Amino acid sequence: MNVRAEELAEQWVQEQLHQGKGKDELDATMFIYDDTVLEVTCDRGDQLNVSAKEANNVIVLRTPAEEKELGPICRACGMTYEDEKSAIQCCADID
Ligand SMILES: [Zn+2]
Repeated sequence: MNVRAEELAEQWVQEQLHQGKGKDELDATMFIYDDTVLEVTCDRGDQLNVSAKEANNVIVLRTPAEEKELGPICRACGMTYEDEKSAIQCCADID
């Protein structure tokens, strides 16, 4: 299990609880970190647990709004760049 992903997920859960979210609201929350998928589940003892989900491939699809936020991005490989020109040239030679 990816330790960093687990830490981030647990921090997120703690933050949500701190803000007054109910455990039932957080149950079944999924996290994607690189190619690690984590899920928050509420066990019978009413404890929230973060556990890794088996996933072969994890692909995060970005919305146009997210792309705008990230700046110029190569549509082929997902690398982000400072300027639009570099992003367009990134994988341009491949096809
Ligand atoms: Zn590229």
